[in-house]
Parts: sequence; C-alpha cells; structure tokens
Amino acid sequence: MSKRETVTVPQEEIAKQREYIHLLKESGLGKIKRYSISTFGCQMNENDSERLAGMLCDMGYSEAQNESESDLIIYNTCCVRENAELKVYGHLGALKHLKRNNPELLIAVCGCMMQQQEVVDHIKKKYRHVDLIFGTHNLYKFPELLYNASVTNGMIVDIWESVGLVAEGMPIARKFGVKALVTAMYGCNNFCSYCIVPYVRGRERSRSVEDIVGEVTALAENGYKEVMLLGQNVNSYGLDLGGGLTFAKLLKEVNKVKGIERIRFMTSHPKDLSDELIEALMDLDKVCEHLHLPIQSGSTKVLQEMNRKYTKEQYLSLIDKIKSKNPDISLTTDIIVGFPGESDADFQDTLDVLEKVRFDSAFTFLYSKRTGTPAAKREEQVSEEVKKERFEKLLEVQNRISKEINDQLLGSELEVLVEGLSKNSMETYTGRTRTNKIVNFKGTGDMVGRLVRVRIDRIQTWSLEGVVIEQVPYYA
Ligand code: SF4
Repeated sequence: MSKRETVTVPQEEIAKQREYIHLLKESGLGKIKRYSISTFGCQMNENDSERLAGMLCDMGYSEAQNESESDLIIYNTCCVRENAELKVYGHLGALKHLKRNNPELLIAVCGCMMQQQEVVDHIKKKYRHVDLIFGTHNLYKFPELLYNASVTNGMIVDIWESVGLVAEGMPIARKFGVKALVTAMYGCNNFCSYCIVPYVRGRERSRSVEDIVGEVTALAENGYKEVMLLGQNVNSYGLDLGGGLTFAKLLKEVNKVKGIERIRFMTSHPKDLSDELIEALMDLDKVCEHLHLPIQSGSTKVLQEMNRKYTKEQYLSLIDKIKSKNPDISLTTDIIVGFPGESDADFQDTLDVLEKVRFDSAFTFLYSKRTGTPAAKREEQVSEEVKKERFEKLLEVQNRISKEINDQLLGSELEVLVEGLSKNSMETYTGRTRTNKIVNFKGTGDMVGRLVRVRIDRIQTWSLEGVVIEQVPYYA
C-alpha cells in the first residue's frame, strides 16, 4: 500500500495570515490587500495558482487588475522551456522600479524553476528585490511563508526536495465557472531524456479516489459541468497506491458524479495506455471522445534516445487499436522538433506519422536544452536554422490535416458546452465539442454552462462557427 504521507494545510497558518492583514489595516495602511499571480507553463501550474489564489482569498486578499496596483505579486514559474524562464527573469527585472516606488510591495516566485538550485542562486544574486522564493513541494506552506516574508526584511527562501507529499484540504479559487482542473496525481517517474519535470516535480504520487471524487462532487454542487483530471502521466495513476487501482477505475468513479457532464484528462504516456483505459474511453458516457497522446517524434531511433520506451510502429498500432474501438475519437499530440541527432530521415518519419495518424491538432515545440537533463549533454545538437525549417514544414502539414478534418464537420450538428462570451465580443459565445473543438456562435448569457446543439456552417483551421439549434438535456 501507499508509503506516502498526506499533509493538510494548517488552518492556524491561514488564521495567522488573516491576523497579519488585520494588523496592517490597524496600523493605518487601511486598504484591502490585492494580489496578482502570473502563471507560466502547464495546467498543473494553473491548478497550483488556483490554490494560491484560494489561500489568498481566505486571507482576505482580492485579485488586482494589474501588477501596479498589487500589494503582492507572484510568479508561478515553469522550467520546461528556456523561453518561459527568460520571460520570468525579464518580468522580475521590470519589477525593480515598482518595488522602489512601493517598498511595501511583496514579490514572490514559486513553481518548477525554483526547484533548480542554480536558478535560486541567480535570483538571490541578481534580483534582491524578491521577498519570497518557494518550490513545488511546499505550496501548502504558502500562508506561513507569506507571513514570514511580511514580517522579515530579507529574502525568504524555502525549497524542499521531493519527500512524497500530497496536500489535501487547501482552499482553491477556480478560474473558470464551467470547467475545472482537478489534479489526480503529482510527479513523474519516466525521465524522458529531454525533460526536467521528474527532477522538479518529484516521483509519482496519486491522490486517493475518495479525495478526487470528493473534489469533483463539490465542483458539481457548485455548478461546474466539466472536469479535466491532471497528471504528468495519468496512465500510471494508482500504481503507487497499490490494490490494483488504475486510472480507468478512477474514471469509472468520477463518471458516477451527478451534475458533471464531461470528463477530460491529460497527459497520457503511450507506453502506459492500457486496454482497460481504451475501453473506458469508449464505455463511460461522460468521458469525452478526445485523447491527447504525445508522440514527441516519429523516429524510433529518436524515441529511443528520448527514453520514450515505444517505437514508431508500436505507437501506430496503438492508434489503430484506439480508432478501431472509437472511430470518432479526436486525437491530439505533442511533437518536439530538432531533438539532438535528429536527421532529415528522422524528421521524415515524424511527417509520416502525421499523415498516417491524422491528428486533429498537434502542439509543436522546438527542442530546448534543459540543464540537468541527459539530452542537454549531447554534442550533436541541431542548428536553430534547421530546427526552424523543420518546424515550419511540420506546421504546414499539420495545419492542412487539421483543416481537412474540420472541413468534414461542415453541416454537422455538434453538442457544445457553452463556456462564455468569445474574446472581444458581446454576442458571440464560445464552447467546445466533446472532441475538444472550439465552436463560436451567436448566443445568450443563459446558455453559459449549458449543453447546446450547434449546426456548423463555417470552418476555420482552429475553430468552427455555427448556429444553435437546441439546448441539450443533461445526462445526470
Ligand atoms: S512523461 Fe516524460 S515528458 Fe512527460 S513529464 Fe514525465 S519525463 Fe517529462
């Protein structure tokens, strides 16, 4: 059974923080504290930021419109790509003048970047105006850390090595009113040779079925209709808990929650995608017909060097199996272009996979060296010029396929969960199909959070447009 330890956010720490806010008000500053959080990276980080926001709301903070009116600025960082790291440094540098104008301003930096000692050393040296640095493993201690940062003049640094914790009972402030992110498990055991995640997020730790179902039930009671179950590799959910628990079994339990209409999940590692999960995708009515299955490269040689533990042929036969069970499923993927040693022939293999699988869409990335990973030490790095050329080619092929797949939807009637107003519009609403396609249409405010049937009358590469025909009754 599980060897993990569950830690609950100490409520007295939140009470301590409220006390501190009260003290500040009493001492004459007399204004509501405002925070802003900038989140970099993946949905796990988004979910962590929702937890930080939840704690801050419980402390009496409210969200600021922008950084310049904030009393507390937090950067929740990502170290998966160099660009995201450089952006954080750029932002931190720009905060210097805000801090000079407002010495009461607190600046905190957390997330994956902070789990790297060289990053922390760099910030300590170059960005001395930062007040608080913490990592991914002690997020639940944020109230205590913020309190300490508030009463101390110097910089507080608290980074933990992974010790296998799962923190439950933290308050959370959700970003969306219709769909919610729910972490199913933390960490990763896979050590893909290009990836820093296992080093900064630690080994796999699954939350219990009861805790996840409890969270989903509370979401349904608060009107949420869709949940996205998150993990770096949800396909190995439950292995650390023992007792034959699997992700498919978790899905079956979440599928029973009344009021939830749709269940999504990400990310799935191809090597761990079981027949049981493929069946669950087909059988469970609320589990959407969409699978994000990162291939990363179409070349078996590159896949081996990436330590992905499957071949091109194995991936393709997995896709055949999925499609034979569920022909209408939408498939999406991640692809890295320019992994060290990737030859033209290897790249052609990737294009070949695109043509054979015909993904609905692909998230494509230029390979970026991550210090501390095996791939970063390899000598045969691909030049930026070649990477960019291949990237453009990849986009061209994938965009054509995406458009061709979407073209087939012209005139069809699709079920859409309405999420809200489309950006920059007062009457165009937006939502997603079960296959995760964005659909825009003329609608009304009362449709938000409801399922509607939309007839598609215009196709774009990345979205669809249509007309609402009817509202759809709920399943449960
Ligand atoms: S499965 Fe591979 S790419 Fe995904 S988080 Fe784990 S190590 Fe990184």
